[in-house]
Amino acid sequence: MQTLKLIPLVLLILFQASCAGAQMTADSDEDRRQQAIEILERVPLFDGHNDAPYQYRNRVGYKFSELDFYDTTQLENPMHTDIPRLKEGRVGAQWWSVYVPAGIPEDEAVKRTMEQIDFVYRMAERYPDEFEMAYTADDVERIFDDGKIASLIGMEGGHSIANSLAVLRSFHRLGARYMTITHGRTLDWADAAGDEPQHGGLTEFGEEVIREMNRLGMMVDLSHVTPETMKDAIEISEAPVMFSHSNARAISGHPRNVPDDVLRMLPEEDGIVMVTFVESFTSEELRQWYAERNAYREKIESLYPGQPDSISTKTDAWISENEQPKSTLEQVADHIDHIKNVVGVDYIGIGGDYDGVSSLPLGLEDVSTYPALFAELLSRGYTEDELEKIAGLNMLRVMRGMEEVSERLQAEEEPSETLISDVED
Ligand SMILES: [Zn+2]
Repeated sequence: MQTLKLIPLVLLILFQASCAGAQMTADSDEDRRQQAIEILERVPLFDGHNDAPYQYRNRVGYKFSELDFYDTTQLENPMHTDIPRLKEGRVGAQWWSVYVPAGIPEDEAVKRTMEQIDFVYRMAERYPDEFEMAYTADDVERIFDDGKIASLIGMEGGHSIANSLAVLRSFHRLGARYMTITHGRTLDWADAAGDEPQHGGLTEFGEEVIREMNRLGMMVDLSHVTPETMKDAIEISEAPVMFSHSNARAISGHPRNVPDDVLRMLPEEDGIVMVTFVESFTSEELRQWYAERNAYREKIESLYPGQPDSISTKTDAWISENEQPKSTLEQVADHIDHIKNVVGVDYIGIGGDYDGVSSLPLGLEDVSTYPALFAELLSRGYTEDELEKIAGLNMLRVMRGMEEVSERLQAEEEPSETLISDVED
């Protein structure tokens, strides 16, 4: 009798305990998300790379009158970025990439870069409650404290200076505060990853570009260059360097990612790798899938010359037989773990590359999702101090270091009068 009475009681206790357990897990996921949001409300989330200006060019010819930045989801193929989602993602400072393709003639690239820069200024003017232009680390902190998104200009590709330090200086006057040394094409003065190297890194003029950037106060961005160019630039640069959107090559072997020996050079002059969400830089399985697909297509192209229909039918068949892997938010966190293990948490930032790519990892689909990545890092044992650094304090420190070097060099040195024809054949 006693035992029989006890059974329902024991069951009830067990049931309550299991409910409490389920409740606790759900709560702690939600708690971590809330904790991540609180971190991003304390320090600016300072993202290294967003290509929304380029999307505005391609989709609507830069016309805000046709596409309001308060809602870009109305497009058939929605953009990753708009104001409500930037706010949901707690973005506090954004390096807006002013990108032009590296394949166009360089004189034309100068004009198109100016159009991209004009777009960023017009965005800040059109939405003054949301954005304000920033040129210094102090600007970023002040604008963030005012509740707005600090907007900075990063030039994507040294082709935009058309081999001229005068053009470089003019872009600095227009507000550009970083320049990616190359995009996908090797220049007359620097080797690019993803193209044939011609110089073994930087040429003599390339070194002069780095020195002039140091003097002006423009961050040297080494995403897109070869390891040799990275090493040359780190050795020449007196100021900290950045990678505005790159991952760890030890985790995904993509040539756009940073090898461990380069990571280990960062503490010397200070520097930052802003971990990116580009799928094939994130997932090694996906990188290999693309490599195999491209190799297959090349083979078919050689077997069926001048028969585009056969080539695309056979390539499509290969794709349907070989399921494309999908990258994930957790894999992005693996890159952060790796860089932390190799060189420490002080050299890590975030550079999503939103609107620079067509697809993104599961869980990081648009600019509203940043807090989920920080919640994942909390679940991996990262402290709040570490996450404040990754979110923005590291980028602010690196930018201040660059500003101090520039101030010193401007007191010591005149602008460089070197022409590329002075030092190269
Ligand atoms: Zn890029």
